[in-house]
Amino acid sequence: MTDLTKLRNCELFLFDMDGTLYLGDQVYPGAIELMEDLPALGKKYIYLTNNSSRAGLDYIGRLRGLGFPCEEENVFSSGMATGIYLNSYHPGAKVYLVGNRAFRRELLSYGIDLVDEGADVVVAGFDTELVYEKLDKAVHFLRRGATFIAANPDWVCPMPHDEVLPDCGSICALLTAASGVEPLYIGKPNRRMIDLISQTTGVPNEKICAVGDRLYTDIAVAQNAGSVSVLVLSGETDQAMVDASQRKPDYVLPSVLELHQLLK
Ligand SMILES: [Mg+2]
Repeated sequence: MTDLTKLRNCELFLFDMDGTLYLGDQVYPGAIELMEDLPALGKKYIYLTNNSSRAGLDYIGRLRGLGFPCEEENVFSSGMATGIYLNSYHPGAKVYLVGNRAFRRELLSYGIDLVDEGADVVVAGFDTELVYEKLDKAVHFLRRGATFIAANPDWVCPMPHDEVLPDCGSICALLTAASGVEPLYIGKPNRRMIDLISQTTGVPNEKICAVGDRLYTDIAVAQNAGSVSVLVLSGETDQAMVDASQRKPDYVLPSVLELHQLLK
């Protein structure tokens, strides 16, 4: 019998969304009921996403539209973390963005100075509006010494019917191939995502539990930050992949339905 003490002691649960709570517009059984029940169980929760193609605020509408409870304090994205990071480590920098309009709005809301000329920093995201000119300009700035920061390392974004979209990691691979410069990734598995949440909420890392379907982002971020991890097999990872991996989550469950049962 698995020891559930560590899991039940957690005060704050971080949920990955795609492959964990839903896929595309298909909500997984029990996912909404779990989120609705967490406050009554004395647990806080945050929807944690590496997706930098939607602003944090856009997620409130999307999650509510799918039936999930969600307030502003329940969302944290790699785009928001990138804004906070830039203000902390590159205050006042001129930033060239390879990102879509939602990411642009997000960075502007943090007061980031987005420019077309003379950039000190190139920021890349999951740019769903990518055109050749942006790649050309970004490579130009990187070859002249600009710092390279990327919102999230994901190669692809999973879609229904076994389709994927090329994500930020793939765009960065192109920029690195052309410029010779490697990015610093801000999103999962960088522990900074959890450290920032711990600072904001006052919950220590060891009482935070990350729940997700990917070993190399969702589980890795928890382990890097000294937090508890739950892998759900409802998305991209199956049991054979867990068995073959060096990275062992604290808990492996079929889906969030079983997580709900364990927390009750
Ligand atoms: Mg996922």
